[in-house]
Amino acid sequence: MDATAADRNDCTASWRLIARGRVQGVGFRPYVHQLATELKLAGRVWNHGEGVTIELTGPEAQLECFLGRFRSELPPLAALNSLDINRQASLPALFESSHNMGSDDGQCGDTGFVIAETVMNAGYNPNHQQPMSLDITPDTAPCADCLAEFRDPNNRRYHYPFINCTQCGPRYTLIEQLPYDRPNTSMAAFDLCSECDREYTSPKDRRFHAQPNACVQCGPMIWLEQSGQPAAGTLAVPSPAASCEATPDSDTVIRELLACLKQGQIAAVRGVGGFHLVCDARNSAAIARLRQRKRRPSKPLAVMVADTDVASGWVRISRNAKALLELPAAPIVLLTQTGQARAMFENELDLLAPGLDTLGMMLPQSPLHHLLFELSDDRHLALVMTSGNPGGEPLVTSNEQARQSLADIADVFLMHNREIVRRNDDSVVSESAKSGVMMHRVGRGFAPLALELEPEQSSESDDFIPLSSGADFRVPSVLALGSYLKNSIALNTGERICISPHIGDLDHPDNCALVAETVDRLLDLMNTTPDAIVCDLHPEGFGRQLGERLAERFQVPLIEVPHHIAHIASVAVDQCMDLSSLSEQPLLGLALDGFGFGWDGEARGGELLRLTATGNSRRDINSAVSDGMGAEWGFEAVGSLSALPQPGADKASREPWRMTLAALFAVQKPESTTVTQQPEENDRQLLDGFADRFADRLVSDSVAASGESQGLSEYGIRAVLNMLEHDVNCPKTTSAGRWFDAVAGLFGICTDGQTYEGEAAMRLEALARCSVFSRNERGFSGEVTVEEPPLWVLQTNQSSLELNLLPLFSHLAERVFDTAPDDTTRLSRLALMFHRQLADGLCAWVQQGLQGRSDNNRKVVLSGGCIQNSLLRQLLTDALGQQGIAPVLPERIPVNDGGISVGQLAWAHQMLRSNRDNNHNNHNNHNNNLK
Ligand SMILES: [Zn+2]
Ligand SMILES: [Zn+2]
Repeated sequence: MDATAADRNDCTASWRLIARGRVQGVGFRPYVHQLATELKLAGRVWNHGEGVTIELTGPEAQLECFLGRFRSELPPLAALNSLDINRQASLPALFESSHNMGSDDGQCGDTGFVIAETVMNAGYNPNHQQPMSLDITPDTAPCADCLAEFRDPNNRRYHYPFINCTQCGPRYTLIEQLPYDRPNTSMAAFDLCSECDREYTSPKDRRFHAQPNACVQCGPMIWLEQSGQPAAGTLAVPSPAASCEATPDSDTVIRELLACLKQGQIAAVRGVGGFHLVCDARNSAAIARLRQRKRRPSKPLAVMVADTDVASGWVRISRNAKALLELPAAPIVLLTQTGQARAMFENELDLLAPGLDTLGMMLPQSPLHHLLFELSDDRHLALVMTSGNPGGEPLVTSNEQARQSLADIADVFLMHNREIVRRNDDSVVSESAKSGVMMHRVGRGFAPLALELEPEQSSESDDFIPLSSGADFRVPSVLALGSYLKNSIALNTGERICISPHIGDLDHPDNCALVAETVDRLLDLMNTTPDAIVCDLHPEGFGRQLGERLAERFQVPLIEVPHHIAHIASVAVDQCMDLSSLSEQPLLGLALDGFGFGWDGEARGGELLRLTATGNSRRDINSAVSDGMGAEWGFEAVGSLSALPQPGADKASREPWRMTLAALFAVQKPESTTVTQQPEENDRQLLDGFADRFADRLVSDSVAASGESQGLSEYGIRAVLNMLEHDVNCPKTTSAGRWFDAVAGLFGICTDGQTYEGEAAMRLEALARCSVFSRNERGFSGEVTVEEPPLWVLQTNQSSLELNLLPLFSHLAERVFDTAPDDTTRLSRLALMFHRQLADGLCAWVQQGLQGRSDNNRKVVLSGGCIQNSLLRQLLTDALGQQGIAPVLPERIPVNDGGISVGQLAWAHQMLRSNRDNNHNNHNNHNNNLK
């Protein structure tokens, strides 16, 4: 349509749109500018703390056309969460040229369309400081266009390690504060050269308003340092915008680094969200050295290769796996090693992923990494890329920190001078048959993750209500402090939940400090203060301390949410389930993990729970002190796995053989039996039985291997049996993780102890998967049939429905002890049998839990770290499917403790709502604006 003067006079309208979601740092304003200009619409677009506002004036037909195309042709990285449309906007003083940031090319009518200056609020209420409710864009790997330029010798950014555009590059890791504009990022230190500035200000350029825009003339640069000799050859480290002629060019630097790696050296390479420790993945001596220096004996190491072709030499690449590897986030993808790789790199794989049949693979995540592979003369270059942090401490981000804390590990440092404002470790994902992806760690490329607190009722409305109008409509901001292991924190502003990157385990003081720092910086970034703080129920530990401190500081309530409720609630949020309707439709959930402090004070980790939220929240949320147990949280405990004693308490979670003995002891000595004999006699009797055979089988190997009596020894076994016999330091746990340990110990797995959480269970799964894969080389098809009758028992124990695994364990023990230790095939089948039986038992348990429920509610949430076990997950989802039960699994948040913060946050809202409703009923309060 031609925008003639007549048209405009006849049916000109003015619209105002407010777009929320991931709309900043994704080329959104340039895209709107281009579309409006093409449709000859006048107006302006600007960023603010809620998102982006677009004001348009033009013929109505053109405006409708704009809206249609706007919705269907969003930039690839953009995600629209909601769109307010006001079709009768009065737009006073719309087009003041003083606010014009981008030239309009003079092509769109009299007034043109402009990109206006960013304002901190939506512009309706200039005195009102709004919390930020927009989604922060994660960092992404270079896009295809940038890579093409990067590889073109005639391009001015040929081999430039920091090439980026509006569609790719760093974002979150650079942001000091919102809104996302260059002065608010660490790119503020670099002045754009005239050429870069021209790109930045030209609406038709693909780098129009690309905030990290840079080139070799004006942008960040790289250099190499030898360990202990900072900036060799130069007196000082190059400062931002230093002349780049004095230092070697990028190609020379990278070639030098490659030469070091070829010699087996270990490099610390500064990347997007922190440092990596890097060595040649095909050099077993180098890998062994890295493990020794980093004091990381067996936790798997990730490998980076140039592309999926090279990756296929190491791991099985399905179509789904290829898609995951090539995601803009460039995550670590856990994939199954190929037989060919095992034959070729047996020693290396034993060092990269000891005892496992998977390997974490990733593709280059930044142009700097691409340059390593571009300049290598070996196309099959494979590099170990592990987090640059000494022994479980926070990831190192600054050059100075690296020189100090990585000096004992790295021989050489690849530095750059683009400061990392926010630390972000690599993300870890794996394939999942059901949803395509299972998230293990939220980090670079995904973090900060944004989720919706409530499922959207309608994402679009003609009834225009600006959020900043000062209406009393407000969702309380809740800050959730997450779990002890794999900590992350979560904060909501309005309906949006922002989840921090993975922080780490809180057994290290530096990680605790990092949690406190992340809290402050996240509140600062989102420009808000919390209305409530949530922590775990555990009465001790850093999370509790910090929670109390923050509640005091902000004068707000501290809410406790039990660990396993948080697990189940987190999956419900991930899957956009409506928690407010739980009273009509309770939600059944299975939480299988290593440890969570139970609502009754017991150690728990194998729970079947029903979230009911029946509004009986008697808990006084204004008090930090618990006044009861159970129902006040709005759930029913359906049942648990049969409990096992943990001889030595925490020690039992590091030494699986203790759990094996605990289970053997429980098999031999049912709880009803009273102890009448002398302890020594009992010991002997037990050792004559299973435990004796267990000792015979494993002690000799272990002692021979370690040369000392630490870990598993005849003496140690006797000591533990004594503890069990006298019930000394043997707290009980229902933990599924400890059941996995007990079974793994039976097979002689991790006899010398686990060096990372879940190691024994992961090795047991690998052993079982051997059996699956030997039958079906193309991968697990789930067609493993049950040959044995059920060996588990469902029983009622004090109104609790208990899944008793002891008969299964006893059966397994007998078979394992009858098998020669080197008969891997049979051992592997037995390991598979355990997984199969466990899955069937869990399925029957869930079925019981759903009995009497309507057919439209036949679903169950699967949560907890044990659900990361892909074999168990597949067997369980298949079994459930056969019973017409739909398993609910998360896709965006980790199913492990990394998702706890989200679940805590969601459940705290549930409790606040419940409390509010009660208040409302009691006092006929007017709080009906809160939803
Ligand atoms: Zn790009
Ligand atoms: Zn430049």
